[in-house]
Amino acid sequence: MSGASKSKKPMHIVLGGTFDPVHFGHLRMTQEMLNRFPYAKVALMPAAYPPHRPQPGATPQQRIEMLELVLGKYPQLSVDTRELRRKDPSYSVVTLREIRQEFNEAGTGDECLVFLMGTDAFAKLNEWYEWQELIKLTNILVVGRPSSELPKDGAVAEFYQQHAIDKLEELPRYSCGKVGYCQMPQLDISSTYIREQINQGFSPRFLLPDGILDYMNQHGLYGLNPKS
Ligand code: ATP
Ligand code: MG
Repeated sequence: MSGASKSKKPMHIVLGGTFDPVHFGHLRMTQEMLNRFPYAKVALMPAAYPPHRPQPGATPQQRIEMLELVLGKYPQLSVDTRELRRKDPSYSVVTLREIRQEFNEAGTGDECLVFLMGTDAFAKLNEWYEWQELIKLTNILVVGRPSSELPKDGAVAEFYQQHAIDKLEELPRYSCGKVGYCQMPQLDISSTYIREQINQGFSPRFLLPDGILDYMNQHGLYGLNPKS
């Protein structure tokens, strides 16, 4: 597939993650994207846990429900549940191929696809299954995250150099093939920290939407006492 064109394409941004639970770090990223690319659609795509990762506190269905709870009222934001519905391991490259296939079937095969991730995830991209294939299917946009930065050397740094886009605002002209870095205020929030706070008996309030905290309380997630 050829990446570039003169005109801007419909833009689909995908943020993959475990969202266990979703928090303001994730949510602010979506708004920062819409501020830069006002016509984009942003999908949050919860992943199945890989076998080697500690299993989550919330079930796949609960992670979906928390995302739907917070995203439901924003038409440009959505939840893509395909990876949790799939029986096989949820490799991103398989998912992205599937999304491209759907664009092709809809007759819009060259849409601008953007895979969004924090610097912590990007730094380990070379551990992903068929990672070199990803860029043939999508663009990648990296967002700064506290305690991690863009790799300075090694395979991922070379990959970045090779595919770096000059001007971020040009991204909607490319269906795939470009990597960009996006500056935005960094929020030092993680799902791990939220789970740890609860584990230590502290409230995670103001790190995530109140509605999500209410849901967590109601369902007794992460060791909270269920409320009726
Ligand atoms: P955990 O601590 O359980 O790993 P997390 O907070 O890292 O959870 P994930 O669901 O793993 O959240 O993250 C999904 C994606 O969002 C990753 O690409 C990650 O880098 C990015 N991300 C999460 N939180 C932030 C944040 N505060 N700032 C920038 N990127 C973030
Ligand atoms: Mg993470």
